[in-house]
Amino acid sequence: MATETEKHLTDWLRDAHAMEQQAEKMLEGQASRLEHYPELRARIEQHIQETRGQSKKLEECMSQMGVDLSTLKDMGAKLTAFGQAMSGMLVSDEVVKGSMASYSFEHFEIASYKALIQAAEAAGKPEVARVCQEILKEEEAMAKWLSDHLDDTTRKFLERAESGQLTAKS
Ligand code: MG
Ligand code: FE
Repeated sequence: MATETEKHLTDWLRDAHAMEQQAEKMLEGQASRLEHYPELRARIEQHIQETRGQSKKLEECMSQMGVDLSTLKDMGAKLTAFGQAMSGMLVSDEVVKGSMASYSFEHFEIASYKALIQAAEAAGKPEVARVCQEILKEEEAMAKWLSDHLDDTTRKFLERAESGQLTAKS
């Protein structure tokens, strides 16, 4: 019988897995629209690779918890309210909005992994806690990078707008 803590841990791992699949889709959408922002694009492409690895790591954690991976819901089926709001923002192809959305999303991920680490420790699953710590570091690094570059991205966008260089792809 799973304890209450184990049940929450399992649920939150599933939620995190859905979150990472959503992240992958959002990041791919953004990267494809960033031809004028090569540095941002390269960092997003790096994070797409990290995100794919995170999904795999979460699948391994869920296997350890005895979750049947074939029962994982397909992403398209169930977006969180947060995800829907973010996807809506990303329909706009404006780089500043995308950077703001990514910055928020990374912090949502950070909060999710912090909760997962506590649940894994409370459930006596140190290996799951360790994996979530590893993922947390990648999310924190991405959030910091976005924070450090938001000013430059915004100024570059505004310069391009002022000099009439914006196309539909901004
Ligand atoms: Mg992630
Ligand atoms: Fe992330």
